[in-house]
Amino acid sequence: MLGNFEYKRIRSIEEGCQYLAEAAGDGAVLAGGTDLLVEIRNGLKSPQLLVDCKGLDVLNVFSVDDSRSTIGASVALNQLIEHRVFRTTHPALADALASIGTYQLRNRATLVGNICNASPAADAAPVLLVLDAVVEVAGVEGPRTVPVRSFFAGVKKTTLKPDEIVTAIALPARSGLRTAFRKQQRIRGHDLAVVNAAGAYSPAKKVLKLAIGSCAPTPVLLDPIEVDSKDNEAFADHVIETVLRAVSPISDVRASAGYRNAVLPILVKRILHELLFEGSGA
Ligand SMILES: Cc1cc2nc3c(=O)[nH]c(=O)nc-3n(C[C@H](O)[C@H](O)[C@H](O)COP(=O)(O)OP(=O)(O)OC[C@H]3O[C@@H](n4cnc5c(N)ncnc54)[C@H](O)[C@@H]3O)c2cc1C
Repeated sequence: MLGNFEYKRIRSIEEGCQYLAEAAGDGAVLAGGTDLLVEIRNGLKSPQLLVDCKGLDVLNVFSVDDSRSTIGASVALNQLIEHRVFRTTHPALADALASIGTYQLRNRATLVGNICNASPAADAAPVLLVLDAVVEVAGVEGPRTVPVRSFFAGVKKTTLKPDEIVTAIALPARSGLRTAFRKQQRIRGHDLAVVNAAGAYSPAKKVLKLAIGSCAPTPVLLDPIEVDSKDNEAFADHVIETVLRAVSPISDVRASAGYRNAVLPILVKRILHELLFEGSGA
């Protein structure tokens, strides 16, 4: 049973921001609803106002190629996954999105909803972090941009203001980056990550970026790591040590902290193999 709330299907982004400003923190944006409606039903959230953006064509557009890409807030995951060039230009993001829920869920769920929900386990988050993605935001005071590394503020908390609506995610030009995503779940099939991780390696700069999810209150982006080692095993040990120092997994219903600490090195090694040691990462 869903709670009592007012529902507004908005005709412009400005109108939505105005409604949210009037709700003064008691409003929520409704995208696919696959997180929000479940949380309302379970009594975890009780917004007085839902602002439904899905009718706005301006938010249901995306452009993806090797230069800068933009993904609108209402674009469903399957629109991206099934796009003919998206998998080629953004293979790790495509893998992460394809691992979310079921096919039916991905027909509704959005990339923007995945990060605005701010779950530490959000599968898109580590990839967006290593890609240096930027969140485009509209509010009553006008538009602004937030680097995704400054977007997460805690479990289920973002740095958005109450009147703000995310309009799109921008991905910078790929510049020859090789990227990879790995996820460990409790079961095969659809399940949230026990641990997830993404890497982006620039062969030109010899720099590796890594981000880890489900091992801290927010997804963790590590400082860039210089890749100059001739000894793969020693380099892998160094990276794993750095990763384990950067995270603070807890035990919860999905896994113990010990299990997460044990799985993480395996995921990191797989990413290193794909991006560096085999040189076959896309
Ligand atoms: C059965 C099931 C399986 C799932 N499996 C996974 C999984 O494997 N991996 C994973 O990462 N997630 C999973 N999820 C969570 C969820 O499906 C994803 O996070 C999804 O991407 C959320 O997108 P949405 O469009 O449905 O967001 P919504 O539920 O509509 O919104 C989520 C949150 O973001 C806010 N929001 C949405 N759009 C905006 C906007 N434009 N501006 C500001 N705030 C906004 C909402 O107010 C809400 O707080 C699962 C959920 C279910 C029910």
